[in-house]
Amino acid sequence: MAARLLDGAATASAIRAEVAPAVAAFRERAGRPPGLGIVLVGDDPASEIYVRGKLKSAADAGLRADLERLPASAPLKALLGVVERLNASDVHDGILVQSPLPREMGADAERRVFDAVAPEKDVDGFHPINVGKLVQNRAELVACTPAGVIELLERSAVPIAGRHAVVIGRSDIVGKPISLLLLHRHATVTICHSRTADLVHVSAEADILVAAIGRPGFVTRDFVKPGAVVVDVGITPVSDRAVVERLFEAGSKRRDAFERRGSLVVGDVHPDVAEVAGALTPVPGGVGPLTIAMLLKNTVTAARLRAC
Ligand code: NAD
Repeated sequence: MAARLLDGAATASAIRAEVAPAVAAFRERAGRPPGLGIVLVGDDPASEIYVRGKLKSAADAGLRADLERLPASAPLKALLGVVERLNASDVHDGILVQSPLPREMGADAERRVFDAVAPEKDVDGFHPINVGKLVQNRAELVACTPAGVIELLERSAVPIAGRHAVVIGRSDIVGKPISLLLLHRHATVTICHSRTADLVHVSAEADILVAAIGRPGFVTRDFVKPGAVVVDVGITPVSDRAVVERLFEAGSKRRDAFERRGSLVVGDVHPDVAEVAGALTPVPGGVGPLTIAMLLKNTVTAARLRAC
């Protein structure tokens, strides 16, 4: 039997619909809309697309959204200066610095920039203070993608308490926060990574399996216990025909899309998993749309908290 698809686009719409009255209420009280400052360094094409999507969604939701751009050659000091200015701004409640930063900025640039964002404006939830609060289950601003995964599971009536959740991936922005959020909802959580021994066996014990790896089609059906809920966080642009042919049959919709465009965005979960899983997030249309919806929600939360 084919897995039930967990519809991230519909859940994201529902969240955006809830954000709209909260934006209106804030505007009424504060005499201005909640404001988001986005900083984009360089001209990475994927980042351009993400940032454009974030600006449009914020504007559609009635938020003020301003883009600050810096050239790829900008020194870290200049970026930290922009962050400082946004920290001090009265009209910006949230700050988002689009990653990845250009490599020339230095290996620790991202960490230094995320640390520099005022915690109360940290709508990405990356600041160590917000991460610490997440560990203690008292976070107000949680990283958008992990928070979106939980919204999707809860609104899809997927039981979490008492279930065994296996998260593949331990990054600070996806794997670790998702693991903590599942733990706080009383799942028994196993975190796996590139050095986990017998990953297939561990994964196949999961009631809820989350893949946040960044390797197209890595999670095959042998990773999945029949009936398990599988969340595919991975989004990797693929232009290698061999990879696409390994994942999608000739004549399938996705293969046709590849033939038309020459590239595809592919998840970490192999399409065959749909034959084994009980429920599954598709790529695209699963976790992806939730990230922006949660950014809007976090911006309104930050605005409300700052106004208190
Ligand atoms: P990352 O590269 O920081 O982390 C990848 C993790 O996968 C690491 O913890 C690593 O240990 C693990 N890993 C790598 N190879 C492995 C292997 N062979 N076996 C087991 N574990 C392995 O990536 P990230 O930032 O956490 O992102 C993960 C994926 O999620 C990427 O595809 C990224 O594009 C996607 N992502 C999607 C959204 C969204 O909005 N849907 C947001 C953020 C990230």
